[in-house]
Amino acid sequence: MLGVEYPNSTGINGKDRFSLTRFLAWFLFFFYFSGVHQTIIYSSGIAGFFGITQALVMSLLWLVPVMLFPARGKLIAGIAGVVLWTSSLFSMGYLALYHQDFSQSVIFIMFESNWAESSEFLHSYFAWWMLPALAVYTLIPWLIWRRLQPIGGTPVTRLLLTFTICLAVCWPMLDRVIINKESLANGFSEQVNSMEPVAPWQLVMGYVKYSQALSNAENRLLASDKPPLEGLVDSNADTPSTLVLVIGESTNSRRMGIYSYYRDTTPRLAAMSDDLLVFDQVYASRPYTVESLEQALSFADQLQPKLHLEKPTLVDVMKQAGYRTYWITNQQTQTQRNTLLTTFSKQADEQVYLNNNRSQNSAQYDEVVFRPFADLLNRSESKKFILVHLIGTHRAYRYRYPDTFKIFNDNEDLPPWVRKKRHRREYNEFDNSIVYNDFVVASLIEQMKKSGQNGYLVYFADHGEEVYDYPNRLFAGRNEAAPTPAMYSVPFLVWRSESWKRNNRIDVSHDMTHSMYSLSDFFHTWMDMAGIRFSGFDPGKSIISPLYTHGPVLIGNPAKPEALVDVRQKFFPTAATTLPGPEVLRSSTPGYGPEYGVVTGTVPVRDRWMLHP
Ligand SMILES: [Zn+2]
Repeated sequence: MLGVEYPNSTGINGKDRFSLTRFLAWFLFFFYFSGVHQTIIYSSGIAGFFGITQALVMSLLWLVPVMLFPARGKLIAGIAGVVLWTSSLFSMGYLALYHQDFSQSVIFIMFESNWAESSEFLHSYFAWWMLPALAVYTLIPWLIWRRLQPIGGTPVTRLLLTFTICLAVCWPMLDRVIINKESLANGFSEQVNSMEPVAPWQLVMGYVKYSQALSNAENRLLASDKPPLEGLVDSNADTPSTLVLVIGESTNSRRMGIYSYYRDTTPRLAAMSDDLLVFDQVYASRPYTVESLEQALSFADQLQPKLHLEKPTLVDVMKQAGYRTYWITNQQTQTQRNTLLTTFSKQADEQVYLNNNRSQNSAQYDEVVFRPFADLLNRSESKKFILVHLIGTHRAYRYRYPDTFKIFNDNEDLPPWVRKKRHRREYNEFDNSIVYNDFVVASLIEQMKKSGQNGYLVYFADHGEEVYDYPNRLFAGRNEAAPTPAMYSVPFLVWRSESWKRNNRIDVSHDMTHSMYSLSDFFHTWMDMAGIRFSGFDPGKSIISPLYTHGPVLIGNPAKPEALVDVRQKFFPTAATTLPGPEVLRSSTPGYGPEYGVVTGTVPVRDRWMLHP
């Protein structure tokens, strides 16, 4: 052995002496699972050195049981190794797919989605090199583990080392509490922060935080003692009315024929477009379902992201206005597993959960909503609010439509950069899912129309989806850290019954349908359209109001306010100032502060990034 061996006065044999080399081998084994990840992160410039330092210190912790129970050391290391390996795969996988560190918000999104969704996700990102990479990544710690030898040392040596390690590992907390005399809670949160970059704590802490947020949201969203909105007046209070909100899923409006996509993916909606208000510059604030909807369906927005927990939500206000509220969903709702989305649906008076499949790959087409929707339209209540949540065009796209909707199979009219077989297939499947979604949304409008009820139907999608839309980066999915128009552009359509139009006159000009709008302000448009007023109602946030003010359309994670960016600057940096002509919309004086950069000049109505191969 090359290690420094200390002569031992108690006369135990050489093998029992403390060996630094052997100690370092054990340490290397535990460090490996966080160290490789953090070293890649650091060396590729994604993040600073903090992660490596933390990985070095926190990996020492695993040596404690090894030294306390030397006889079982190898077994302990083996079990810990499996746990560390498994949890490190999440961060390594995320790094491989997105070239980013595994953050708190990623973990939230991971817990919010389910295993079926995650396996679909992995399926679509799978690349051949991942298998050999995984094999090598697994083989290295296995080889180290096989060669591990007892560290040795007297019980006193081992206890002293254990004590030193505990001191080092808990130093962030001890430093706060003992040296700086701060509270235990502060010390604890500092400890949590230090352990976060390290496997498996990133998952453990992430889960703890997620369940706290979930139970907090559940308590707040479903609280019966929530103060109602003050001064609420419903101008349709004495008229029977049925108001319908259809929420789609992962649909990029730029891939819809009705929004000038080169393929005719929305024949049915296009045929009824004279009866629709079609808004074409609407952007989701976040590219994830819950994060986007908790803003769209409440007062919350990018600058005040917690208001859905503090003020009444859209469903609450509809109840306060005397509507019976229904929530039909074809999104997965496994009764055993609660998510923030399920909590949102529970605010309604009644729920119809249609998709109890374990696997999102099973064909559970959105047309299943037709029957419960018809039943609810027939209910005798005079005021009804029906929310229909579709699975829409969520990946895996091929499971979203029956064979009769396999419209696009050929490769003749594909954009020239979509060449790989898998890309071509997914590109076509996504467009087919949009054709089916067109059938579903148009059918719901037809159903509403046939029922002869007084009211309106609004359709939007929670966020977009990129499916090989850009030649310079072939990507399918969504990524908040690398935003593109495809991930944020959402369809936004309104159908109104004739009686509703007569009694609720709104004057939406051609220009107004091209207004830049953030879906996070949807709550205000909805209330304006329903004729519901309350003290503090802000028509400046209603896209159908002549008083609409062109504010910022912010995207990004509101937990990092400095990272929020206006889509005009992000997606139209040159067009905002250089594209003249009739196809541009003069934006009014922006009513927002300099921290997001004031956008002056003009904004293209139909931006030129639309695909026209
Ligand atoms: Zn979604």
